Amino acid sequence: MANDYISPAMKNRELLETGGKPAPGDLIFVQGFVNTLDIEKGQDEIGDIRSLKSWLMQHGLLTRSTPIKVSDLKAALLFREALRRLLAINNGGKANEVSLKTLNRLAARCELAVIFGSDGSARLEPSGKGIFKALGHLLAAAIEAVGDGRWTRLKICCMDNCRWAFYDGSKNRSGRWCAMSVCGSRDKAREYRKRRAGHV
Ligand SMILES: [Zn+2]
Repeated sequence: MANDYISPAMKNRELLETGGKPAPGDLIFVQGFVNTLDIEKGQDEIGDIRSLKSWLMQHGLLTRSTPIKVSDLKAALLFREALRRLLAINNGGKANEVSLKTLNRLAARCELAVIFGSDGSARLEPSGKGIFKALGHLLAAAIEAVGDGRWTRLKICCMDNCRWAFYDGSKNRSGRWCAMSVCGSRDKAREYRKRRAGHV
């Protein structure tokens, strides 16, 4: 995206809670969206139409006058979980074909188009309607991150009960957990117990 381009999605960066490691640039919106579900606590920030609409509006992804239907809610939740699966690949996870198909089907409905600027810049902009415009802004941020190498640093914590999206800022891109102090130590304790059990 060109520097002078401020999409509606890019306004309220400071509102997003990322759990410690915010992804740089607009990728933070993708991270924030995936982390609207706290799997461990069973809390979903966008679990119903009202809260989805309010989250999207809060982050400048949707206007108040855009109607949200049950099918939009379903699409958003499918999109989020397909993104989570995709980001798990960045942490050594296997691709899931069904989930990929879902993501590609939803991505097609976002209708991303290349827009060239008078300064010679190029950016992607969604021309899909309603919820797909909002999701398209997230996709555009993802594609931009794929282009400059940030994407593979956005990962899903490898602890099954966590699955939080975190940004791996380590030099060698070897981060596996959302936070070493939380899931890292849990995982190590689990491994330790496994090893001990094997020796008994
Ligand atoms: Zn974690």
